Parts: sequence; C-alpha cells; structure tokens
Amino acid sequence: MKRGANCLMSGKTLPLAATPVAAGIMNPVTGKRLAKSWLAEHFLPHARQFYRELSNRWKVPLLREGHILRFIKNEEERVRFRKRRLNASFAPYLGEEFPPGHWESKGWRDPLGSYEIREVAWVDVEKVADTMRRELREQGAWKESLFDHRDLQVLEKGGSWENVEATCVVFCEGAKVVENPWFNEWPFAPTRGETLTLKAKPPAADEMLQSGFWLLSSADDSLRAGSTYDHDDLTSGPSRDGREKILEGLAGFLVSPPQVIGQGCGLRAGTRDRLPILGRHPANPSLALFNGFGSKGASWIPKLAEDFADHLLQGKPLAPEIDLLRFDSLDHS
Ligand SMILES: Cc1cc2nc3c(=O)[nH]c(=O)nc-3n(C[C@H](O)[C@H](O)[C@H](O)COP(=O)(O)OP(=O)(O)OC[C@H]3O[C@@H](n4cnc5c(N)ncnc54)[C@H](O)[C@@H]3O)c2cc1C
Repeated sequence: MKRGANCLMSGKTLPLAATPVAAGIMNPVTGKRLAKSWLAEHFLPHARQFYRELSNRWKVPLLREGHILRFIKNEEERVRFRKRRLNASFAPYLGEEFPPGHWESKGWRDPLGSYEIREVAWVDVEKVADTMRRELREQGAWKESLFDHRDLQVLEKGGSWENVEATCVVFCEGAKVVENPWFNEWPFAPTRGETLTLKAKPPAADEMLQSGFWLLSSADDSLRAGSTYDHDDLTSGPSRDGREKILEGLAGFLVSPPQVIGQGCGLRAGTRDRLPILGRHPANPSLALFNGFGSKGASWIPKLAEDFADHLLQGKPLAPEIDLLRFDSLDHS
C-alpha cells in the first residue's frame, strides 16, 4: 500500500495463531549455542526503527529496548560465552559477565553467575497487528473473514474471490499453510509454544531475564514468560504441562514463585532450514507465499515485507536463502 498498490487484506484470528501469544523478542544471540541470529545486524536495527515509528504514529507504547540478563546454566555455557565474546562479530552483542551471587538482593538466583546480551528489543506484536487491522478497516482495506481456498478462482493473471479481482493473492497464514492446497508441500516444520502472563516483581523495563525460559515486562507493563517448544502435539491448547515447564524454568532464577494470571498457546510456522519461505508459486505466479518466520517474525518481517513488495511490484529478486524456489525438488504442478 505504501508503494501505491491497491490491497485488500482478509483473515480471522483462529485458535493457535502465533501472533496473539508471541513475546516479540528480537534477540541477536540465541539458544544453547549462543548462535548469532541470521543477518542480525541487518534485520534488527531496521525492525526496531519500524516499530518505533509505528509507536510514534499511533501514540501507543509498543516496544521495549535493552538487554537480556542471562543466568549461566553450566560450565560449558560460561566457556562458550567467553570464547564468543572474543569474536569481533559478537562484540556489539555480548556484554559484561557478573559473578555468582551478584543479583541476590534483587531476588534472582545466579549460582553460576550471569552475563548480558545487548541490542535486544521486544515488541507487542499483537498490539501491532490489532492496531494495523483497525487502521486498514478504516481505509476499507480489511475484511474479517474465514478464507476457504475452494472459493478462490485462480485466473491466468490473478485471482477472483467474493467479487474481488486481484492481480496477485498473497497467503500469510502462519502454520495454517498446511491447509493451503497450493503451498502445503513446502517443508514447514511447525512447533507449538506456550506463554504465560504473570504477577510478580517485574525486572526493569529495559531488562529481560533468561535461562532457557525468559521473563520480561511488555510495553503495556504486563509481565510475560515463556516459552515451550513442542514438535509433536500440534493441536492442543494451553496445557498444565506447558505451564509447569515454564514455571519450573523460571524457578531456576526467580527466588519467589510468580502468580499465573493468563496462558496462551500458538503454532510457530518454522521451516526445515529455519529460514522464511517467500515468493510466487512457480506454476501459478498469481499466487504468492509470505510465511515461515518461526520464532523470528518480529525481527524479520518489517524488512522482508519491503523486499517482498519490491519483488511482487518491481520483479526484484528475493535473496536465494528465503526464495521458495530453493526447494527445487518439489513437484509444483
Ligand atoms: C509461543 C510463541 C512465542 C513466540 N515468540 C516470538 C518471539 O519472541 N519473537 C518473535 O519474533 N516471534 C515469536 N513467535 C513467532 C511469531 O509469533 C511469528 O513469527 C509472527 O507473529 C508471524 O506470524 P504469522 O503472521 O506468520 O502467523 P500467525 O500469527 O499465525 O498469523 C496467521 C494468521 O492467518 C490466519 N489464518 C490462517 N488461515 C486462515 C484462513 N483460512 N482464513 C482466515 N484466516 C486465516 C490465522 O488465524 C492468523 O491470524 C512466537 C510464536 C509462538 C507461538
């Protein structure tokens, strides 16, 4: 729309949608291996600027920026942190190391010490989506509706659906892509995840706590914790098991147990090679896919949406790592 295209967005928040439960964490260094997120230096500053601008335009707090305080789990993690910190490409992201007991007075357990991950931010993604939907509705560009793929007539140049004709139909269905008859063969690898809303003493607004599980205070001051990863059960809603796993994880670094006031569950649309899957369908170029953001949608989507618009409207090639054509062994008929 920013580029002058005439667009109609349609959808409905279905059970297990990812955005309503996501924490929107944008983290440059992640996981047990302290791996650098794909092109973090490229995506993160762009995403943060994007959300800052939205926050200013809408006059709604959306973003918190600061650092992670990560509590060391074992000796292997300490060794890895110290080694990574000597690597120039990690220098902007890995900060100070703190000795054991440093955070006792705050009510945090740190028997093996802790360290900082810098240049981190977290955004209220559901607030972004909700405010954007409201704005689109005001412009007559949003239709709240359940989409049935059988109602789409694919034309030689475009598609027709409920009396709307379009030159291109873009699917952004998250993990529901498995029900899309044109794109369900791409190698998606969804994971189910749960998050909690809590009542407890919050960390500082610019500080997120982590040790496997994380605890943060969102831009609206709600206290959030998560998250679980389940590759097998892709249908259940919030579970007792999920809640207990998160609370056990938090007990590793919180002295006082928090009170649970809410629980959410969603499916992350991960992919086999952990990178997004974007592009026009090779056999039906009127149909396009914007999906596969796994647990990195908050960081990747602002820049990739621009690249995708350039691709659709100006034919600019997508980066080969994210182009759906990289899976060329699929039968695209
Ligand atoms: C527990 C959890 C924690 C997460 N934490 C983070 C995090 O910290 N940082 C981060 O960057 N990402 C995180 N994510 C991932 C993040 O939520 C997504 O990458 C991001 O929100 C993009 O999602 P999406 O729009 O592709 O999918 P979704 O949010 O699932 O959106 C797809 C939408 O399409 C709708 N839809 C699908 N099919 C139809 C249909 N037939 N008709 C109508 N509507 C339909 C769905 O209802 C949904 O509203 C997390 C996800 C989960 C589940």
